[in-house]
Amino acid sequence: MIPFNKPFLTGKEIEHIEHAVALGKLSGNGVYTKKCQLFFEKRYGIYKTLLTSSCTDALEMAALLLDIQPGDEVIVPSYTFVSTANAFVLRGANIVFADSSNDHPNLDVALLPSLITTKTKAIIVVHYAGVACDMDAIMALANANNLFVVEDAAQAIESYYKNRALGSIGHLATFSFHETKNVIAGEGGLLAINDPAFADRSEIIWEKGTNRAAFFRGEIDKYGWVDIGSSFLASEVTAAFLWAQLEAIDDIQEKRQLLWQRYYDELYELGENNFYLPKIPVYATNNAHLFYIVCNTLEQRDGLIQYLRNNGIYAVFHYLPLHQSTYNKAFGVCDNLPSAERFSNCLVRLPLFYTLAQNEQTYIIDTIKQYFMNG
Ligand SMILES: *Cc1c(COP(=O)(O)O)cnc(C)c1O
Repeated sequence: MIPFNKPFLTGKEIEHIEHAVALGKLSGNGVYTKKCQLFFEKRYGIYKTLLTSSCTDALEMAALLLDIQPGDEVIVPSYTFVSTANAFVLRGANIVFADSSNDHPNLDVALLPSLITTKTKAIIVVHYAGVACDMDAIMALANANNLFVVEDAAQAIESYYKNRALGSIGHLATFSFHETKNVIAGEGGLLAINDPAFADRSEIIWEKGTNRAAFFRGEIDKYGWVDIGSSFLASEVTAAFLWAQLEAIDDIQEKRQLLWQRYYDELYELGENNFYLPKIPVYATNNAHLFYIVCNTLEQRDGLIQYLRNNGIYAVFHYLPLHQSTYNKAFGVCDNLPSAERFSNCLVRLPLFYTLAQNEQTYIIDTIKQYFMNG
C-alpha cells in the first residue's frame, strides 16, 4: 500500500534532542526554541514569533490577543480545518463563513464586503495548499473597516505573495508543524506577530498569563500573574526536533517541488477533459504542500479514491465544509456555499511526501490514467 503521508526525518532530529537533553533545560523558551523563532523572523521577515504546541494553540492565542468577545463576528472560510474557526468560537465569537473562489479553495475576496457588519472584528484567511490569498485586497478591506487579519498559514511555510512571505502580512499569523505538513515536529506550531502592538501581551499569554519571559530577560525583578493566558509553549524536545527540519528546509522543498511538478506535468493532458488541476495565481508561489485534483462530480471523485484504494494507493479527500458541520448546524444557520461544497465533494489529494519513490509516483499516475480512460 502506498500511504497518503509518511513523516520525513532528516536524520538529525535525535542528535539535536540529545543535545537539548544534555543542556538540562527541557521546558519551553530555551536554546532550540530561540533558534527556531529566529529562523522564522529572519527568513520570512516576521516581527516576532513564538513557538507553540500546535497551530491550533497559535490560533487560540490569536483569538486571545485580538480580545474577541462573545457576540463578535469573525469571518472564516468554510473550506478549512476545524481549528481555524474553533479557536474563535472558544472566545464566544459568531463565525461568519465565507465561500471559496470558484476556481480555488481559498476564500473568495469579492464576497468579503457583503460579510462585514458593525460587529465584525477579524478576517481569518487560509492559504490553502500553501497558495496565497489575495492579501493586498484583503488588507485594504480590513484597514478600511478597522478589522484585524489573521493568516492561517498552517500549510504555507516557504510560500510567498508578491515576494512577501506568507505569515508576514496579516496582523497575526499561525504555522503548523503537524506531521502532515512540509516541515514537522510531530505536533507543533508557531504564532507570528507582525503588528508590534501585540508583542508584549503575546509573551504573557504564551507564558500562562505571567510576565515570566520579561523576568528571564532581566527586565523585571519578580514575575507574577498579570493577564489571562495558558500553557502554549512547545517544549525544547519539540523545538530540537523542529530545528533539524528547518536546517533541511531547502532540501525538503526541492524534493516536494519535483514531486508536485511531475504530478502536474503528467496529469495535465488527461486533466483537460476530466478534472481540474491546481491553479497558482500570478501573485502567488507554490510550496508544494499538497497536490490535488478536482473531479467533476462526487461520484467520479469517490470512484477514483476507491479505485486507487483497490490498487494499493491511499488518496484522501478533505474538509467537510464547516458551515455544514454538526456543530454549526446546531445554531440553525447554514447558508449555501456552493464553491466550498464543490471542493469538499470533488477534491482528491494524492500521496506527496519526501520518500515517495519515482516508481511509486509513476504507478499512481498510471493508475489515475487507467481510471479515467476506462470510464
Ligand atoms: C493543519 C492545519 C491546522 C491545524 O494545525 P495543528 O498544528 O494540527 O493544530 C489548522 N489550519 C489549517 C489550514 C491546517 O492545515
